[in-house]
Amino acid sequence: MPSSMHPPARFAFRGPEVLARSPVQGGEPDPRPAPWPQLPVPEGAELFPLAVGAAIRPGLEGSALAVPPETPAPEGHEWAPLRSFINAASEEHEWFPAARALALANWRAATRFCGRCGSPNGDKADESARLCPACGALQYPRLSPAVLALVRKGDRILLARNARSPVAGMQSILAGFVEPGETFEDCVVREVREEVGIEVANARYAGSQPWPFPDSLMVGFECDWVSGELAPDGVEIVEAGWYGPDAHPLLPGPGSLSRRLVERAFTQIRARSGVRAAVPGTAP
Ligand SMILES: [Zn+2]
Repeated sequence: MPSSMHPPARFAFRGPEVLARSPVQGGEPDPRPAPWPQLPVPEGAELFPLAVGAAIRPGLEGSALAVPPETPAPEGHEWAPLRSFINAASEEHEWFPAARALALANWRAATRFCGRCGSPNGDKADESARLCPACGALQYPRLSPAVLALVRKGDRILLARNARSPVAGMQSILAGFVEPGETFEDCVVREVREEVGIEVANARYAGSQPWPFPDSLMVGFECDWVSGELAPDGVEIVEAGWYGPDAHPLLPGPGSLSRRLVERAFTQIRARSGVRAAVPGTAP
């Protein structure tokens, strides 16, 4: 099929940036990814299906395009970080297909060659997998699990400011990658200890969310403070404190799992204490 005859791509990515329509003069930016317009696929770009075979389910039809780093946006469009759409989304599931597209683009870029024998990889026809034509090695999209830990202490929760937080003043719950040889629950205890110096227990599952930067799966837990005073490590976490629903720092956007867990905890705390307080700021 000539490149100009490609089926339209629902999402186009340039690294972690997704194609969006430029705001019209004086208008608000459109907070949604835009399809690649009816233009030829740029030189060096890769068009791939969002799903193949039995994995094609509602919401996962169509294809995505990954373009080389210097590719300009088509007229009337611009490249915008996918994270800005996640922050602006009013609901988590809105951005999950785009998250899948970015995760697959990242995985495809990292698996052009077979990790076992070094031959150029091919694609398996009936599922999203890389198949080495030389040695038969099969590789599925990689997911790196990470925990989100909401720590409760009486009627307050732990919020902390990450050194790399993209939004000034924003604080969130703690996060960290699961290491080989540990369970999610072990990871919650270790991450909280390493990042803020306290001991926690009773980690209980609270929800999950894809996080394609580049290939994470965020798994949320609530846990309880057991002992210790907050002592941020000064590297990953530069500020931490205990907050209730009536007074707290700027929170992550409503499209994030961390925000959902914080809101849920605050709702429970309010119901328990009878406090009726408006939730202040939201990240832009
Ligand atoms: Zn191979």
